[in-house]
Amino acid sequence: MTEMLAAHLALAFLVKILLRDLDLFYLLVGTSLSGLDAILPIVGLSDEDYHCGSIFHSIWPPVMGAVILLLLGPIASISFLTGGIVHLLGDSTDVRGRPWLYPLSRKRFGVAIFPHNFRDYVSNPVCLAIEICSVIFLVWYALVFGIDLTSWLWIGLLIPLFIVFAVHRWRTERLGC
Ligand SMILES: [Zn+2]
Repeated sequence: MTEMLAAHLALAFLVKILLRDLDLFYLLVGTSLSGLDAILPIVGLSDEDYHCGSIFHSIWPPVMGAVILLLLGPIASISFLTGGIVHLLGDSTDVRGRPWLYPLSRKRFGVAIFPHNFRDYVSNPVCLAIEICSVIFLVWYALVFGIDLTSWLWIGLLIPLFIVFAVHRWRTERLGC
């Protein structure tokens, strides 16, 4: 499920509705952090398998970030940690699973419901429906609850990164890499 942006964001916004005291910006940052390992193969710093199989997709970055963010207070810390866990839970619904305990263990945990490959994901009607519903939900949230400026700026940063990621995955998977 990591292949798409909207569903990840929608999960974070859903959590914000359910837990109103959390800070949306730190939730979004926590949700986005694991996706950093998607950038490394694009710039040639790791192979394609690195994405979703590294320490970025373990529980440790959210935990370490949450500890550091205690300096800013418990809300920032808990929001960040929750966002990180939400990302891992969402990702763990695909067939690849995620190494929650990496590097202590390389075992991947998940429930293997959705495809992992980008092309398979965007070709899957159920996945597409989830993404479309996620976008509608995000628009609804913005209209009903509003979104603060820092969260908008973060989303604005994520969208071009996601486009670069999507184009890269589409090209490499088409070439059979
Ligand atoms: Zn991910």
